[in-house]
Amino acid sequence: MEKNALQTDIQFLPGVGPKRAALLKKELNVETVGDFIRIYPFRYIDRSSIVPISSATPDMAYIQIRARVVEINLFGSKGGISPEDVKFNLVKRMSVKVSDGTGFMELVFFKGIKWMHSKLVKGEEYIFFGKPSVFNGHLNMVHPEVDNIRKDADADSGMMNNTMTGVYPSTEKLRNGGITGKLMNRLMENALKTALPAIEESLPQKLLLQKGLVPIHFALRNIHFPKDMTALEKARYRLKFEELFYLQLSLLKQKYVRSRNENGIRMPKVGEAFNICYSSMPFNLTGAQKRVITEIRDDMKSGHQMNRLLQGDVGSGKTMVAVLSALIAVGNGYQTCIMAPTEVLAQQHFKNISKYLQGTGVRTALLTGSSRTAERREIHQGLEDGSIGIIVGTHALLEDNVVFRNLGLAIIDEQHRFGVEQRARLWGKSSCGLAPHILVMTATPIPRTLAMTLYGDLDASVIDELPPGRKPVQTIAATESRRTAMFNFLKEQIKLGRQVFIVYPLIFESEKLDYKNLEKGYEQVVTAFPFPPYKTAIVHGQQSNEEKKFNMDAFAAGRADILVATSVIEVGVDVPNASVMVIESAERFGLSQLHQLRGRVGRGSEKSYCILMTGSRLSKESRHRIELMCATENGFELAEEDMKMRGPGNLEGTQQSGLPIALNIASLARDGIILNDARQCAQAVLDDDPVLGKPENRLLAEEVSQDKYKVRDYSQIS
Ligand code: ADP
Ligand code: MG
Repeated sequence: MEKNALQTDIQFLPGVGPKRAALLKKELNVETVGDFIRIYPFRYIDRSSIVPISSATPDMAYIQIRARVVEINLFGSKGGISPEDVKFNLVKRMSVKVSDGTGFMELVFFKGIKWMHSKLVKGEEYIFFGKPSVFNGHLNMVHPEVDNIRKDADADSGMMNNTMTGVYPSTEKLRNGGITGKLMNRLMENALKTALPAIEESLPQKLLLQKGLVPIHFALRNIHFPKDMTALEKARYRLKFEELFYLQLSLLKQKYVRSRNENGIRMPKVGEAFNICYSSMPFNLTGAQKRVITEIRDDMKSGHQMNRLLQGDVGSGKTMVAVLSALIAVGNGYQTCIMAPTEVLAQQHFKNISKYLQGTGVRTALLTGSSRTAERREIHQGLEDGSIGIIVGTHALLEDNVVFRNLGLAIIDEQHRFGVEQRARLWGKSSCGLAPHILVMTATPIPRTLAMTLYGDLDASVIDELPPGRKPVQTIAATESRRTAMFNFLKEQIKLGRQVFIVYPLIFESEKLDYKNLEKGYEQVVTAFPFPPYKTAIVHGQQSNEEKKFNMDAFAAGRADILVATSVIEVGVDVPNASVMVIESAERFGLSQLHQLRGRVGRGSEKSYCILMTGSRLSKESRHRIELMCATENGFELAEEDMKMRGPGNLEGTQQSGLPIALNIASLARDGIILNDARQCAQAVLDDDPVLGKPENRLLAEEVSQDKYKVRDYSQIS
């Protein structure tokens, strides 16, 4: 098999050379010809569709006009300016008047003026691509893309002789280095010529037929140089399918390999402690909780190692599920550790868990960074001799001197805050020779398509039902002009004996500024709610753990009416008497974060409110987010919308874990249907040939054995 053409260093492609190769590597991560042909156009110029200026309107999306430059005007910070000043970057705005015979249009540039000025010549004709809008009653386009009219000589070269021309991702550096759109097209043509003969069809013929997928050569040729719209669509579909198919195939294969692995701690019993806890519970489990516990029980007694993700909205009752799972381990003679991302959360877990465990006789302990030395020593002893059945804690659990007698189950709350390395240390603590069962809990609802990919190698359980009696939280958006009314409303609520959260955004990058906002906000609150009678506590990330705990406790115990906080404390704080959540600068939060914060109220028996304070001029996207928050309380619905709006890469809770591979053409947000389909096909292939050992699956096996498909495998980290 001649693969060399694909592995050829990109610098040897005619027209590239070492300098441009370095640029391509740096800007587009391209090292070989094989990498290069997988850079796809993100849009196409359709030379057959040119809009006459006279019929362009501001409500059109992106359009293409073909027009002659009539006039170029330059403006500095103080008005008119001469062309000489372009050299010194003194021009703040360039206005270009163009005409196509049907009308005039103004093109406006604020950036890249030097380059654009050198490119545009008065009297010449160009193709401009941009979004028409209206300014001062005149039609204009801001920062249109500019293409020279293709000379006939150019147009009749091979594959480039199509009506649609691909536009590739570009950067200023690439353009300055001479890698223009036009050059990209020419290089791509060269690349395809050398690379295509070396590319074998990688998808099974059966699949191509069954799914109506075009062959790989057709797909690659037409994604770069579409013959027409239909061919482009077919090419796109094939490449998306292929990408998602390989991804799912690799995930499912790993899952299969793991499920074949018999090396799991067998926990056949439920045990006495489980039964005591179960029968003395202050409520009945919801149907969803029961179902999930059954799934977990089945895993734990199977003899395979459990690797399960438990998703459940805030307040859905994950803690009880964690406790019952831990008790199964205890009932079989094993220890459980429950890890939380913050000290406050660990404390709270410990408190709740201890309550649930009353009467079971199971010894439990809390280990955090602020545990005292004597206490710490006692806990280490208890873990080592096995007398502590359930340990709750933070990262402190990962320290080397924490040794378990026989760790059988590790429960991780909000896994995205733990890195792979930290998990690995935890697994290393299992001293019975077998890796502990693993249950990862998250309250960040993840859309199905994303979950299938991020956690495609885990089994998933979802608690999709809230305990009965939850009152809906009324969500209201308000701007600064309503602040007095809002404060008065808070006073009424406090008079009724309720408590209030006021949360300020804290975004890592602008930490200093955020603290200023928080401090100003706190002063404003203290002024509006003077002591006596009002008591206000404040919690933020720059306080010591003792300070945080002191203030949190004051609020939890009802000694403070208002808690001013940053989003640091966002996850999991449980104060049932708090009935109002005010979120300041709500437009700065993402949807799922807003949803998490809102989940802090509505836990008690009183009607609860969430007030979203926003600036008065919001971007379209922010407005949409705020409206959605007011419209629904369903976390999964919000997560789906969030993903559609922002793309999966930006979803909160998923940045750190990241996508297993970078998707080139498919989008998890938009291609859910293809993803589903691809996953089913991958499953069918594996059902027939689980280890991809059959000769006809040789190429598939080769593909998924590449490093890029290696995702975190929770069970094999050790
Ligand atoms: P999560 O961790 O999923 O956000 P929690 O486990 O903290 O939710 O539960 C939220 C509240 O609901 C707790 O006060 C808990 O005692 C209560 N709860 C849990 N399960 C049930 C149930 N089945 N019926 C009634 N209340 C429940
Ligand atoms: Mg919880």
